[in-house]
Amino acid sequence: MCDVLVMGAGPAGLFAASELARRGVPVRIVERELEPHRQVRASSIQARTIEILEAIGIHEAVLERGERMVATVGYDESLNEIYRKPFHYANTSYQHITVLPQWTTEELLVEECARHGVTVERGITATVIEVDITHAVVTLEHGDGTIEHVRPTYLLDATGAHSQGRKAMHESLEGGTYRGTFAVADCVLETTLPRDSLSQITGSGTVFLFIPLPNDRWLVTVELEDGETELLDEHLADLVFERSGRSTRVLETGWRSVFHAHHRMAGHLGDGRHFLLGDAGHLSSPCGGEGLNAALHDSFDIAWKLDLVMRGRAYPSLLDTYMVERSIADEHVVQVSDLAHNASMAVARDPSSAGAPTDEVVVAAAVNARFMLDVDYSPSPLVLADETDALPRAGHRLRDWNLLGTTDHVLLVFGDVHSGQSLDDFAHRWGGLVEVRHEHPIAAEVAGMTGPGLLLVRPDGHVAARRLGTTEADFSALDSHLQQFLIPAPTQTA
Ligand SMILES: Cc1cc2nc3c(=O)[nH]c(=O)nc-3n(C[C@H](O)[C@H](O)[C@H](O)COP(=O)(O)OP(=O)(O)OC[C@H]3O[C@@H](n4cnc5c(N)ncnc54)[C@H](O)[C@@H]3O)c2cc1C
Repeated sequence: MCDVLVMGAGPAGLFAASELARRGVPVRIVERELEPHRQVRASSIQARTIEILEAIGIHEAVLERGERMVATVGYDESLNEIYRKPFHYANTSYQHITVLPQWTTEELLVEECARHGVTVERGITATVIEVDITHAVVTLEHGDGTIEHVRPTYLLDATGAHSQGRKAMHESLEGGTYRGTFAVADCVLETTLPRDSLSQITGSGTVFLFIPLPNDRWLVTVELEDGETELLDEHLADLVFERSGRSTRVLETGWRSVFHAHHRMAGHLGDGRHFLLGDAGHLSSPCGGEGLNAALHDSFDIAWKLDLVMRGRAYPSLLDTYMVERSIADEHVVQVSDLAHNASMAVARDPSSAGAPTDEVVVAAAVNARFMLDVDYSPSPLVLADETDALPRAGHRLRDWNLLGTTDHVLLVFGDVHSGQSLDDFAHRWGGLVEVRHEHPIAAEVAGMTGPGLLLVRPDGHVAARRLGTTEADFSALDSHLQQFLIPAPTQTA
């Protein structure tokens, strides 16, 4: 028996395990591979992820170990700059993409698991997966041939794109595969390309991207010619030299991989007991640089919900909102990455398609989407319909939430409270679940508040509800909303 079994120790599984353990939920994590890999794979960490890591208190290691990209820059084949898309319009204090090899991100998450007493159990493959009314039933095959049957109360399936658990749920990844075959290589270059930008050399008709990695390395992405199935070192060196106007040389090549890009999503991300996290539930083009980030966001979401349910402070129906909300967010990831993929392909063929810098609002919207700051949970039952058009609307992420230093529900109070008794009753009723803050770092204009009022913020920083007053009726509206999914503190009897 174990309360929660996490299958797969990629980014999704590791973050789910560390988050659950940090919150005090007993968790076990198993991984098929005996050793951690040392592959660059997903390198872009988006601003929204840094905010989440900051709320937990672990963002500094990522920022310290990563490179920072502040723009996307396009070049012709003589390395003349032909367009620049800066990221400084992003609605966050982290106006850059942090670049970190996936193995480093995983290493940091393994350390985070260890800090909370969780060790990854390696060399264990989850095989048969079934779910009954009260438990999941999983067969674990150990490397020494031992077979173990476990009955976790909840099963988090983070086994990646080929998830067997997804197949056991009779779910498939619906969508498609992009035209073309792509190759990535981790290289040392001699180049004048800037180390603070994502560079794309355009004009040849095929995608050619350069991302600066830590330790003076680069991740080079090329689109292979029709019929090519691998990227040989000499071919890569020739390509880089010729297509950079003979200005860039490959000095060394390390890890490399050939891949196809997908836009795919499972119809259901769970069934209330067995949940699909990360690539097990959705695949997006690496051109968006959001797949790993979305995997972490899935894990963050299920962790706070499972914690509340397992502590008996939320109804199990709260878990159903994982499927609703993460479907909204993950579909958005697939769409945003689709736009990024098609834009990269278009610019490769016709550099003028990048267009001149356009309206500030349009540029900001594009950057916020790329940085994963624009997820809108307003259709979710966990969000109370907003009374105003002010931004952020209920369902949006609250900027600067990461500065609150909590991953619990918070009630932010703006201005004087009309009904002090109602506030005291509210704080008492939701004690241990909702922190009430009169003093906080969220400016009224950032919260979209123009007078006294209340902003209920969820553990993930999204606005759950806004009230434009502080009367008994306002607290009562929040009470009714919270009672639909949270279980109030038991009333003390004398
Ligand atoms: C070339 C490339 C570039 C990319 N660039 C980016 C980027 O810049 N930014 C970004 O956000 N995303 C990027 N991605 C996507 C990113 O790599 C994935 O979205 C991310 O790895 C998903 O993490 P995951 O934990 O869901 O799955 P995985 O990383 O696939 O981890 C799954 C784990 O489960 C284990 N496992 C599998 N089956 C079993 C089993 N039966 N039992 C036990 N263990 C099992 C596997 O060994 C593995 O360790 C890129 C992808 C590619 C291919």
